[in-house]
Amino acid sequence: MTGNNTVYDVMVIGSGFAGMAATLFAARRGLSVVQTGATGGIDFSTGFLDLMGVHPISEGKRWSDPWQAIDAAITDFPNHPYALMSHDEIAESIKEFTDFLGEYGLKYVGKEQQNTCIMTPVGTVKRTYRIHKTAWNGAVALESKAPTLIVDFQGLKGFSARQLVENRQKDWPLLRSVRVSFPGSSGELFPEHMAWTLADPKHRVQLAETVRPQLEQVEYVGFPAVLGLTNPAEVVAHLEELLGVKVFEVPTMPPSIAGPRLRSVFDRGLPNLGVKTRSQKMVTAVRMKDHGVMEFDIGKGGGMNTVAAKSAILASGRFFGKGLKAGRTGVLEPVFNIPVHQPERREDWHQKEFFDAKGHPVNMAGIEVDARLRPLGEDGKPVNERLHAAGAILAHHDWMRMKCGAGLAIATAYKAVRELTG
Ligand SMILES: Cc1cc2nc3c(=O)[nH]c(=O)nc-3n(C[C@H](O)[C@H](O)[C@H](O)COP(=O)(O)OP(=O)(O)OC[C@H]3O[C@@H](n4cnc5c(N)ncnc54)[C@H](O)[C@@H]3O)c2cc1C
Repeated sequence: MTGNNTVYDVMVIGSGFAGMAATLFAARRGLSVVQTGATGGIDFSTGFLDLMGVHPISEGKRWSDPWQAIDAAITDFPNHPYALMSHDEIAESIKEFTDFLGEYGLKYVGKEQQNTCIMTPVGTVKRTYRIHKTAWNGAVALESKAPTLIVDFQGLKGFSARQLVENRQKDWPLLRSVRVSFPGSSGELFPEHMAWTLADPKHRVQLAETVRPQLEQVEYVGFPAVLGLTNPAEVVAHLEELLGVKVFEVPTMPPSIAGPRLRSVFDRGLPNLGVKTRSQKMVTAVRMKDHGVMEFDIGKGGGMNTVAAKSAILASGRFFGKGLKAGRTGVLEPVFNIPVHQPERREDWHQKEFFDAKGHPVNMAGIEVDARLRPLGEDGKPVNERLHAAGAILAHHDWMRMKCGAGLAIATAYKAVRELTG
């Protein structure tokens, strides 16, 4: 076991959207931050930042105005985490987060105060709040139903331009598809490798030459999201110049390039803010020391080390991120052993039908917090004055069905940091 005498201002447990956002916001406010966590939802997401798209989920009601959707959700679920913050705080959090991404070449755009309709990898349409700039022309083409070509590649699994077009054919007759070969490749293709390949301008020229013969009466061309890893805007601009049409990216199925793109921004940006990261490591134990300092064991066995911090933000997600564990007797929070709000009996976790429109009660499970986002113990009081929580681990929301995943994670991280510094 190794250790040193540094006591950080804050330990962020988690490196999903909530953990990354909390780390960013805390470091920007001058706190010394140490962050740990392994793979999270951020690595599998489409990269779209949902704020609130659907409520009530049983009716599947979709909203163009996410702020109205938030208000409606809070009316029906007064304990929804969005009830703990104002619209202004939510908007500020998304702006600060996306501005940071933009500073590192991953620009995000969207409509003023509105959701944007965007195509999914299979051609369905979803409403989301902020999208990467390289997807924007796809939203414009979808709205105007302009003549558009969707391209896919021989050897790329999980993205079928033909399937996507078939699903949209009824309302978008000028949408068509083509399959081409990827420059220099004849075997199986992987998005990350393709993105690296297209970092080299000569491969973009080859790709443009392959696609150009297909462009008759086409105004927009959509490619699967493989157009560069750290410089997608540059790759899109170059292809637009080469092809003479507007170009956009369509997300691929997870795991897509959106995750590595987001991670790459944080890998480059957080050390510049003085953040110490212990990536791909989990907190395995916590001890309380003198003066309210918390001591964390990180990792296991010979690779374990110890970190001390005056406060902590728990952003460890739900089951997918391992922030919650499903045991025989119920759902547990394994780091601090905080009580988890959950259905009383295990047999009530799920509806009988997997696709039940109401969603499953266990998907509202999580930890309960006070108005300052401090987790509550059995006695209804904060378990620790200096422990806050953010993201999916919070109770009383079903982010997957409500379409509020990244937005809720970022906004609650912002609020948690505010409470920590306030
Ligand atoms: C396939 C998929 C697609 C998605 N698509 C979208 C989308 O299009 N738009 C959108 O808005 N949202 C999307 N999301 C949702 C979004 O990614 C989640 O809502 C969001 O990730 C929740 O963030 P989180 O940081 O709270 O939790 P998570 O992303 O689950 O992250 C939890 C983090 O905590 C870490 N952790 C857990 N336990 C410990 C421990 N003991 N010690 C240290 N670290 C720990 C994990 O390793 C992980 O890094 C998607 C999610 C998935 C899985």
